Amino acid sequence: TAQISSIDPDVASLIDSELGRQRDGLEMIASENHTALAVMQAQGSVLTNKYAEGYPGRRYYGGCEFVDEIEQLAIDRVKALFGAEHANVQPHSGAQANSAAMSALLKPGDTILGLNLAHGGHLTHGMKLNFSGKLYNVAAYGVDEETHQIDMDTVAEAAREHRPQLIIAGWSAYPRQLDFARFREIADEVGAYLMVDMAHFAGLVATGLHPSPVPHAHVVTSTTHKTLAGPRGGIILTNDADLAKKFNSSVFPGQQGGPLEHVIAGKAVAFKIASEAGFRERQERTLRGSAILAERLSAEDVSSRGISVLTGGTDVHLVLVDLRNSSLDGKQGEDLLAAVDITINRNAVPFDPRPPMVTSGLRIGTPALASRGFDDDAFREVADIIAQTLIAGTESNGEDGAAEESLAGLRERVAALAERFPLYPDLTPMGA
Ligand code: PLP
Repeated sequence: TAQISSIDPDVASLIDSELGRQRDGLEMIASENHTALAVMQAQGSVLTNKYAEGYPGRRYYGGCEFVDEIEQLAIDRVKALFGAEHANVQPHSGAQANSAAMSALLKPGDTILGLNLAHGGHLTHGMKLNFSGKLYNVAAYGVDEETHQIDMDTVAEAAREHRPQLIIAGWSAYPRQLDFARFREIADEVGAYLMVDMAHFAGLVATGLHPSPVPHAHVVTSTTHKTLAGPRGGIILTNDADLAKKFNSSVFPGQQGGPLEHVIAGKAVAFKIASEAGFRERQERTLRGSAILAERLSAEDVSSRGISVLTGGTDVHLVLVDLRNSSLDGKQGEDLLAAVDITINRNAVPFDPRPPMVTSGLRIGTPALASRGFDDDAFREVADIIAQTLIAGTESNGEDGAAEESLAGLRERVAALAERFPLYPDLTPMGA
């Protein structure tokens, strides 16, 4: 037959293994989610065959009547979702959305000011090996050494000192909300554009559970696959009609060729889901889950082992665990949690004394578990499992195998949770 199981059993069986991994374990990487089956159906459709260079109604290829309607639906829905006047839904990824937005606003050699990568910023906000660090002159603001939060007076000072053409607000690892109005005031003072990269917290913004950057920023970029729970991809939003034209030509033909209409269809589906009541309820559980986790990891049995929660808590979908005073490092913490089938990632904390491949931090997020249906009780259980795992790790001084006995019991508790919240019950394996 023409099924993937007979054409390519190798790939089919690896996809099934990945489905099994996602079903049997608990996904707590803060930038990941479990997208809807409906989104995956759109992505796995005949739309992947279609070339559609250009924009709806203005294409360079024939046969675009249906993809035009699909892309227009995605545009209209995302504009309504975020209250933005203009949207481009074609960026293949968050990095490409940022690249296109920046190339529309800047020329090579201009100065950008973003959050220090080592303090939670993203690669595309000025890392030296990234396009942003190669094309632009990079300046950075950091978090306060005591509070680990962004101090807006420090941002203002950095802006006055470096006179950037673009200020970037947004992060990949930061547990608090940003003051977009103040960012805009600072940008106006120094004559800079303000770009907010809301990739991480877009799902919270869409449901009104996080302040919206849209009224404040010249441009808002995002991924569509993190808290927003859509397919992997990017978007660019603005309220400025002139800038909107620049962003369109910067995405195509500036940075990309044909748009991925199958992914854009997935985005349209995800934006519809995000506008419905169930999505807000899911984002509320996401936030309660991370608050429950922060509270559990601040308890005496954990803190007495030198483990703490950065900034003392969270306003968003993730918790940053600070291991600087612990015998356990980030790599060991990640491996221990992997051993009980919880997937998270190690992450440098600000002022981290350990090397980048080891780190002194863990970034733990709740969006995927909320999508899986986790309620407060289930989040309390997973929070306790994480706490007990880290405690077992410090007791064994991070030696391989020493914590194995306690880990076996914890792994069973994870399996019970995974069984209680079945993932993709309607999805049939490829069957290789
Ligand atoms: N912007 C932020 C703040 C991110 O955290 C990420 C991804 O981690 C991106 C952009 C890049 O997205 P992508 O991986 O789709 O290129």
